[in-house]
Amino acid sequence: MVTVEEALKCIEACAMPLQSEEISLEDVHGQVLDENIVADRDFPPYNRSAMDGIAIACDPSNTNSFKITGEQVAGAAQQTLSGEHTCFEIMTGASVPIGADAVVRYEDVKISDGEATITIEGIKPHQNIHKKGADAKTGDVLIPQGEKINSGDIGILASVGKTMIRVKKLPKVALVSTGDELVEPSETPLDHQVRKSNIYSLLSELKKEELDVEKFHFDDTYDELKKGLNEIIEKYDVLLMSGGVSKGKRDFIPDVLEEIGVKKHFHRIAQKPGKPMWFGQNDQVTVFGFPGNPVSTLVCYILYFKRWLNISLGIKPVELMAELKEDIHFKPDLVYHIPVAISHTENRVLATPFLGHGSGDLVNLSKADGFLTLPRGKDHFLKGEIYQISF
Ligand code: AMP
Ligand code: MG
Repeated sequence: MVTVEEALKCIEACAMPLQSEEISLEDVHGQVLDENIVADRDFPPYNRSAMDGIAIACDPSNTNSFKITGEQVAGAAQQTLSGEHTCFEIMTGASVPIGADAVVRYEDVKISDGEATITIEGIKPHQNIHKKGADAKTGDVLIPQGEKINSGDIGILASVGKTMIRVKKLPKVALVSTGDELVEPSETPLDHQVRKSNIYSLLSELKKEELDVEKFHFDDTYDELKKGLNEIIEKYDVLLMSGGVSKGKRDFIPDVLEEIGVKKHFHRIAQKPGKPMWFGQNDQVTVFGFPGNPVSTLVCYILYFKRWLNISLGIKPVELMAELKEDIHFKPDLVYHIPVAISHTENRVLATPFLGHGSGDLVNLSKADGFLTLPRGKDHFLKGEIYQISF
């Protein structure tokens, strides 16, 4: 058995160096960038009107009437103001004409007989003009390598004309459930059977990471497991398995994996839930053997697989903390990952624990937003104390 710290260290050391690949703009959301994205021109690329109104040259003598001599619309090439005390009507997004240095919004102007009269005081040079290069200059790095691409980034990629983007190539994942008692969600279970749920909750988690996933199921038969796993370890980068790693007579996974050449890095972690977790690798595959209880599976996925994935992607883990909202007593000499609901007050993040019925308690899990990790070495955890939270 290893400690939680040892397990995490081992997982980090076993992160997988990922290649890169090019992906089209439409498919790149949520991927991790493997190049710097640079401005191909200034942002904005021209002095851009931020309002609909009139473009004028600010006059030191405070003239407030201007003859309208033209129109500058968005999408038209930049024009030149005609002369003193003249103006152009201008639209948002249009290039400010040469000779103009301020835009006055229609709301502050009265127009009649081809003449615009400004109805407010204090017009200042540059007002309502979004100056060329104010946001970024040609050659500036707009999104650095290693960022996870969000919708704002997609807008930048489109603006700089990046239609193919270099990103980290995500690992191919096989999701494997085991257990003679399991049937598909679409089936009606017999009294002694249950429907598979872990695979579907993990599938939903993996979707968030944009990972390519294939599902498998094997019964608790040594030979079937050996044959099936032997085939899939050739084809995938990661196996996420649920069930079959505890001390039961049919928990064959650890032996089978070692027999087919996947080297064990650790088996069992001093934690609850998720104590029986198994982790190992060969030259091409990384295997996470999660215990089958739904809470255990999810805790282990969040704490260990997500950490491994993020480190493989070059994303630094962030530690989030929350304040315990109720006292908890926990005697075993194990780290305790307790399901919690998160709420917020003005400047505090609060974690309400659900003691539930242990690691098989799927119903309690649906109320939880994450897990609060209570360390070893004490039995009493008091309301107001602050601990790490993961989700
Ligand atoms: P195991 O880790 O195989 O000993 O399984 C522990 C418990 O988790 C058993 O009660 C199983 O029925 C349950 N279990 C295992 N796999 C799944 C699954 N995919 N979905 C729901 N429950 C599961
Ligand atoms: Mg089982």
